[in-house]
Amino acid sequence: MTNAVFQLSCQRNNYPWGKKGQQSLAVKLCEKTKEYAEMWMGDYPDIPAKSLEIGEKLQTIIEQNKEKLLGKKCIDKFGGQLPFLPKILSIQKAFPLQGHPNKSLATRLHQKNPKQFTDENHKPEIAIALSEFEVFAGWKPLHEIQPLFQLQPLQRFLPRTHASFNDERLRSVTQTILQASDDVIAGTQKALATVSREEYGQQAYILGLLGRLQQQYSQEDAVASIYIPADGIHAYLSGDIIECMARSNNVLNSGFCPRADRDSIELFSASLTFSTHSVETMLLRSEPSPKSGGGKTLVYAPPMSEFNMILTALKESETETIRSVDEPMVMIVTSGSRSMKADGETHNIKDGYVYSIGQGIELVYETDAGLEVYAAYAE
Ligand SMILES: [Zn+2]
Repeated sequence: MTNAVFQLSCQRNNYPWGKKGQQSLAVKLCEKTKEYAEMWMGDYPDIPAKSLEIGEKLQTIIEQNKEKLLGKKCIDKFGGQLPFLPKILSIQKAFPLQGHPNKSLATRLHQKNPKQFTDENHKPEIAIALSEFEVFAGWKPLHEIQPLFQLQPLQRFLPRTHASFNDERLRSVTQTILQASDDVIAGTQKALATVSREEYGQQAYILGLLGRLQQQYSQEDAVASIYIPADGIHAYLSGDIIECMARSNNVLNSGFCPRADRDSIELFSASLTFSTHSVETMLLRSEPSPKSGGGKTLVYAPPMSEFNMILTALKESETETIRSVDEPMVMIVTSGSRSMKADGETHNIKDGYVYSIGQGIELVYETDAGLEVYAAYAE
């Protein structure tokens, strides 16, 4: 039986006569009661991007114009679709502690359960901060994990044998913690909060996290950009980011989400890599992009082959040329405005505009007050 009075969640409807974005009262009011988490900017069918002009799905347009948009090189290497998926994420609270199966596990899972694991592909991803961004990624070095588990409340998760920590032991301890009941976790959290700062030693910052989070075995750092390998453990805690990943939507969830949404803990812990024990291995540093004509573009090149991301940052009255890449590209303006010359046309651009750029097209950006553009391209 329903309540007599309840709140409604209303949908937006897009017509060309409407006001744009935040200028629209319909949007502003609609947004007050909804969580907007992600914006997808690719041809992936779950949340497809469409041509603004003709309303057709990017996927359909690419299918009908493969040679022109993707080019032979990309088709030969990745098939007739974009091999990457860029997204904007706005994170208000920690989202599920997760890992994405690597290629061989993804293939097996897809064969067994294609409904849940829609892709045979791996899903390494990068994240670049657009605001202050907090993340758990990878593992602490073993020599920092070992003393933490000497804290009395954590000792219950250790196996009986008194071996020193190695990666396999960390895997089994992780599994034990994830399998613990909510009561045990709540009790552990409470007990950890009463342990004195001195006992935490160098890692006393963990005390500050306890109120917000359930897990204490990962690491936190203020970062600008990171690379998560296909089987790396991670959870984004807060902030706005631009993310790009290989074409896949496979995910194994555990922790920071309702119990019913958690995937098999055995599968989750078996799928993880334990090779990432330092912030250095996860940081993704930018370098000058060879595609830049004027030196105002940086490239983030993750250590695998599907895509790179470039960032063009222009100050007042500056211009930049992006040399034609022979792979398809998706770009988004994250701040600023003015114009982009491409394929003999000049497009007015401003923050929020997303373009699909076919292979072999040179771009020239111009701005009056400044411009910031991110673009992902196949690699
Ligand atoms: Zn992820």
